[in-house]
Amino acid sequence: MTNIYIEPYDGCENDIMNGIAQKLMKTMNIPVKLLSPIENPVYAFDPDRRQYYSTKILRYIVNNHNNAALRTIGIVNVDIFIPILTYVFGEAQLDGRAALVSAARLKQEYYGLGPDRELLVERLFKEVMHELGHTFGLTHCELGSCVMHLSNNVAGIDRKTANFCEEHREQLTKKLEELEIPNEK
Ligand SMILES: [Zn+2]
Ligand SMILES: [Zn+2]
Repeated sequence: MTNIYIEPYDGCENDIMNGIAQKLMKTMNIPVKLLSPIENPVYAFDPDRRQYYSTKILRYIVNNHNNAALRTIGIVNVDIFIPILTYVFGEAQLDGRAALVSAARLKQEYYGLGPDRELLVERLFKEVMHELGHTFGLTHCELGSCVMHLSNNVAGIDRKTANFCEEHREQLTKKLEELEIPNEK
């Protein structure tokens, strides 16, 4: 139970997934396993909104979570929502085992701009770290630079860093100690 699993869905490019896995491993110092891509979560599609219901996908990930994994992070390329919001970048079980991130609105193409792979990896990585933070019990941060800061748009994601503030870093270290995950750099 010492690996973080990344579960990519249709449309996730391998080199981008590898980039995320590498960054995650380096930052968290926890081994990361990249699973083979799975089909789009058609069961979560809402025909009225033409988006996918995030919580349904998260439930699927939770139900299929492999107990050999410490955490499972799903990455989809479809636009996701929860009923009270227009869209979400991701969703996680607070202090749970699974999280979900959508790359759909992290792509420059979504805003009519040219593709920027480096920026996509950066944004995706921040959102993966953010949702992963929630699975380790961390809540939102007031500090605009902390990765646990809530971002409502990509400009907000670009403003924050991929790192935890001091307080959140401490909370995370404590949590990993409780889980007996070696986290020495
Ligand atoms: Zn959040
Ligand atoms: Zn913080």
